[in-house]
Amino acid sequence: TRQTVIAGNWKMNMRCDSAVALAKGVVAAVGDHPSVQVVLCPPSVYLTEVNDAVAGTPVELGAQNLYADGDGAFTGEVNAAMLTDVGCHYVILGHSERRTLMGETDSDVSKKLHAALAGHLVPIVCVGESLEQREANETEKVIERQINGSLAGLDEVRAAGIVIAYEPIWAIGTGRTASPEQAEEVHAFIRKELGKMFGEDVAAQIRIQYGGSVKPGNAKELLSQPNIDGALVGGASLKVEDFAGIIAAG
Ligand code: 13P
Repeated sequence: TRQTVIAGNWKMNMRCDSAVALAKGVVAAVGDHPSVQVVLCPPSVYLTEVNDAVAGTPVELGAQNLYADGDGAFTGEVNAAMLTDVGCHYVILGHSERRTLMGETDSDVSKKLHAALAGHLVPIVCVGESLEQREANETEKVIERQINGSLAGLDEVRAAGIVIAYEPIWAIGTGRTASPEQAEEVHAFIRKELGKMFGEDVAAQIRIQYGGSVKPGNAKELLSQPNIDGALVGGASLKVEDFAGIIAAG
């Protein structure tokens, strides 16, 4: 009963014209009555134009980050109220690129999570281990720490509506996807952890996406796993045909 959610994380790519063209292509491919929820997450400078392209269609808009504070002296930042103002319904939080390159911590992610929920945005909270951590058999320990830290202070009612994205760092942009079995194993572990935090009924409602080299050719097998409820797609979300192929697998 969990609705599959396929999100395109465009990361720092596209220009205004190509962003609008891509959004229009996705809207056409999705049609009026998709069986899955489709979300586009363009760079923040193009949110308004992409919103114009998806407005009135089943395709939703998402941002890639937010700043966890109200209006004020925070040069260069964008907050939840601004994101909803330009049409966002979703926001990606704690992506591994932000954790690694910008030094975001679990505590930062938890602040952003509460700001997103207060602003009526659906957070997509990213977790995932590095290759080094996987090879040291630390995957579960790392995921447990990230889930506990990033979701700190969250109540059961709000927890049911969030989305988690499991993105093993070694599978991001590498063409090396986790096998369906490897991914399912971690997704099941994440749901177990969510059950400890929020109870099993709530954990059963939380959607858990897989991300990391998802392509049209591997999407169906991944999405057919019992605890994989969608995909967070990077590279393959930048081409209409590829992204449409993944949506069709959902
Ligand atoms: P790729 O699909 O390019 O591997 O990126 C995954 C990702 O990081 C989505 O957030």
